[in-house]
Amino acid sequence: MKILAIGRNYAEHIAELKNEVPDEPVIFFKPDTAILRNNEPFYYPEYSQDIHHEIELILRISREGKNIDAKFASKYYDSIGLGIDFTARDLQSKAKAKGLPWTLAKGFNGSAPVSEFLPLTDFPDLHNINFRLDVNGSTKQEGNSKMMLNTFDAIIAYISRFITLKTGDIVFTGTPAGVGPVKIGDRLEGYVEDKKLLDFEVK
Ligand code: MG
Repeated sequence: MKILAIGRNYAEHIAELKNEVPDEPVIFFKPDTAILRNNEPFYYPEYSQDIHHEIELILRISREGKNIDAKFASKYYDSIGLGIDFTARDLQSKAKAKGLPWTLAKGFNGSAPVSEFLPLTDFPDLHNINFRLDVNGSTKQEGNSKMMLNTFDAIIAYISRFITLKTGDIVFTGTPAGVGPVKIGDRLEGYVEDKKLLDFEVK
């Protein structure tokens, strides 16, 4: 399986990193070796001094497809969960300055903790899903899917023009404002509405 992610999908997060609103979605990969499941701890790597949390709604692809029309895109994912798009911001800033890819800054080991998935039927309105991240008990990021610049269906349609999606692939749908550094000893808890889906430590 593979993980695809969209960057710069929430206006306030674009502003906090002083990026420009992209003309087209910014897409990147994470390898399957980035995944942490079952609230496994995240081990802070030695090659970065500035790992940031990015809480995101994630989709699980349930059917193979390419060139998917946005109006049929909702038939290609069956469940929604929460993920952290851990980003080595120091490595990413260096790469961005040189116009180089974000591969290592976004794809390192453990950079994609993912929760269990909830079936779509748990969500009465996909365009109105609240989610948040608490660090050590205080809320650092809050978002709602209605704030996304590209909807779930638009992201699926766009990616599938270039890359065939397969059953089991995971799509990260972008982070709202409030990203920031984590440190060893932090406890991260992620919620969709009032349901806690993520709860793990940085070690
Ligand atoms: Mg992200």
